[in-house]
Amino acid sequence: MNKEVLKNISILYVEDENDVRDFTSKILNPLLKKVFIAQDGEEGLKVFQENKDEIDLVVSDINMPKMDGLSMCDAIKKINSEIPIVITSAHNDTGFLKRAIDIGVNTYAMKPIDLYQLIESIIKAMEPIILKRQLIELNSSLKSKIEQEVNKIKSILDAQDNIIIVTNKEEITNVNKKFLDFFGIGNFDDFISTKKNIFDFFEEEFGFISKEQIDKQDSWIQYIQNLQEIDRIVKIKTTLGEEKIFTIHVDYYEQQDDYYVFSLTDITKFKEKSNILEYQASHDKLTGLFNRNKFDEIFAKEIKRTKRYKNELSVIIFDIDNFKMVNDTYGHQIGDEVLKEISKIALDNVREQDITTRWGGEEFFILLPQTNLSGAVIVANKIRISTQNHIFTEKSLKITASFGVAQFCIENDDEKTIITRADELLYEAKRSGKNKVMS
Ligand code: GH3
Ligand code: MG
Ligand code: MG
Repeated sequence: MNKEVLKNISILYVEDENDVRDFTSKILNPLLKKVFIAQDGEEGLKVFQENKDEIDLVVSDINMPKMDGLSMCDAIKKINSEIPIVITSAHNDTGFLKRAIDIGVNTYAMKPIDLYQLIESIIKAMEPIILKRQLIELNSSLKSKIEQEVNKIKSILDAQDNIIIVTNKEEITNVNKKFLDFFGIGNFDDFISTKKNIFDFFEEEFGFISKEQIDKQDSWIQYIQNLQEIDRIVKIKTTLGEEKIFTIHVDYYEQQDDYYVFSLTDITKFKEKSNILEYQASHDKLTGLFNRNKFDEIFAKEIKRTKRYKNELSVIIFDIDNFKMVNDTYGHQIGDEVLKEISKIALDNVREQDITTRWGGEEFFILLPQTNLSGAVIVANKIRISTQNHIFTEKSLKITASFGVAQFCIENDDEKTIITRADELLYEAKRSGKNKVMS
């Protein structure tokens, strides 16, 4: 070890022989940071007590008046058990050696004092203390470096507009400010005490990733990563009960104790807009029923399903009787009201799974999955009678409609043929006096 280290060491030097003490301290003084001096054990202990934070090491004689060196060292060790002790003595009796070991004396410098040997002893005794100091220094500089890095990362995360959640396998370990703000949480420690799993935040709702769904997967991470972005969505409720929709992105650090970083992007507004657009694209503006476009899509799917599972499937097509007269007599607006009211009558008489469509101007089409012909005729008649009994618009109009009903034949039918058959039956109903169901 470099002698330079001596410059950082302060010692207590206890010696009762004036000459030896003066001579030795004069030599040590310029080499060390500071040399405290005492002339017997009692004074040595007192000086140590007064300067215990400054003194790094004790050099002491053994035989001294008032209190001997070993008794003093024993007392000093009780104040600071780690303080290194160097004993100077000519004494070589084994009883003293055993006592010295018990007390925890580190090294000896034999008298008469060889200064070179004394300095070596001081350095040797200081070695573990100096190493420990260096380690502490290194640790704290490392700690502050890590803290700096963590703070840097934190500030980057906090600047994100996305909600970011870091979890290990078990629980959430970190979140950004946006997360705390979103959930109205004051500080992370309060939050973490509840130890919530991230998936607990996701609302169970059709079309959204939920805990139930996640629990079913062998590898949820793969499951999420394999989903298209548009399907990688979750719904989360704020503390105020507001529902928000997020796309979710997961990064995975396998080598680091399975750390996951979830990044949630709020797409609530975008989703609302796209829902509106989707609704507009698939529904008739006036009546709110499905439009022809959407119907074609659903119809193709239903026919496939019907064929695959050999289900029954029927259709109803109906048309308002003498509707032109309503328009001609009361105006287009009243005609529109009639269309709305009859749409509602139709919806009120079908099941949830039936698809009611505005087919054309005053013509409607209903798809009835898992329904045979007689079941569909019953539905058609219910709509017919409800229509006949209903008083339409402020003009108190009486309206009727005519119906064609057909069942899908798996062997012979396709989308076109079943529609043609239903259409022909409707035409028959019109021709044979209207306000009728033909099947
Ligand atoms: P039928 O008993 O044989 O069905 O005779 P109809 O008068 O009901 O049938 P027609 O096909 O002669 O006339 C249908 C009328 O429906 C013509 C058209 O102006 C009207 N119409 C179509 N779409 C709308 C609409 O959106 N609003 C209104 N008010 N009328 C519409
Ligand atoms: Mg008509
Ligand atoms: Mg018509």
